[in-house]
Amino acid sequence: MRDTKRSRAWIELDIERLKGNAAFLKKILPSSCALMPAVKANAYGHGVLPVADALLESGVSHFCVASVSEGIELRRHGVKGEILILGYTAEERFRELWDYRLTQTVVDASYGEILAKSKRRILVHVGVDTGMHRLGETWKNLDRIAAIWEKKNLTVTGVFSHLSAPDGNTPEEVAFTKEQIRRFDEITAGIRKRGISGFKTHLQGSYGILNYPECSYDFARPGIAIYGVKSRADDDTKTPFEGKPVLSLKARVQCVKELEEGETAGYGLAFTAKKKSRIAVLSVGYADGIPREIAGAGSVLLRGERAPIVGKICMDQMFVDVTELHLSEQIGPYDEAVLIGESGELSISAEEFAGFAGTITNEILSRLGERLERCVC
Ligand SMILES: *Cc1c(COP(=O)(O)O)cnc(C)c1O
Repeated sequence: MRDTKRSRAWIELDIERLKGNAAFLKKILPSSCALMPAVKANAYGHGVLPVADALLESGVSHFCVASVSEGIELRRHGVKGEILILGYTAEERFRELWDYRLTQTVVDASYGEILAKSKRRILVHVGVDTGMHRLGETWKNLDRIAAIWEKKNLTVTGVFSHLSAPDGNTPEEVAFTKEQIRRFDEITAGIRKRGISGFKTHLQGSYGILNYPECSYDFARPGIAIYGVKSRADDDTKTPFEGKPVLSLKARVQCVKELEEGETAGYGLAFTAKKKSRIAVLSVGYADGIPREIAGAGSVLLRGERAPIVGKICMDQMFVDVTELHLSEQIGPYDEAVLIGESGELSISAEEFAGFAGTITNEILSRLGERLERCVC
């Protein structure tokens, strides 16, 4: 493992767990379905290069990203397979699509017209909107969708859609998802009926895999689940979730302040000591991706004990109250605080941490900052 002794705040990655998660998701799906994991947003904050290396070793060849720059980084790193950009790319950057053999999503039929004006051939997957109303040409327009194959400068290698509520288990959400699946199947059958073939299909992200594992497409696009985490702690899935979290988030104690009763810590006088208190200052803050909302709700682990987060989260620091810890007197500079992960017998999951801030793990992880060092163990 890379040395974290010098770090103020860092992420540790358990690469074996990442490989285990890939194997778990692969096993749920029909054997003909390959994983095309979503490694956008720096692999959900984990660090895209170590994640890509581990997935390549697990037999993954293809990846999904959100931007041209993310695609270029992977290609330069040596990824040979398909790299699909899931969203819009400006015309000014089409050249980079050719240069790096990136696959562009056709976000709707009119964007397809713009792509088709490219001077050189561009690889594309056609996005189909089956009810999400975000990206994709509407499933109702089979003619406009099939016409994309006729554009001379586009090579269509895939067709995909995205589910709006695959994580939901209310009757409405399940019915809606099944209807999206039906529309997707209808559109791919309609395309084939026109004599078009040789394209790959994909529909499911993490919850599509876990809750609709019977779907049979060429690829699946797991994001959050490949990192061993669910979006929320209480999400029930049809396939029991066996993923194991890959990421731990840690920060250093910089100093410990002794406060007298009535003294305050931090901006806005937000924390007032109710008695003589020991407050540890951690070297991590909102610029590293710690949401300001967790102040007052969450806790961190220090030497196997829980310490509540107090005061306001600062840009580069935050406060925890260590007064009540058994080892309170021993907590001092250089101690390791665990924000996500294990310490002694205790652990704080990414789901619990996201819950402190009233959000989902996808948001917390993808916003973890560039400034955090990433170490592979
Ligand atoms: C981000 C993304 C995914 C992965 O989603 P998870 O829910 O994290 O698995 C899949 N497909 C598309 C189109 C996405 O934008």
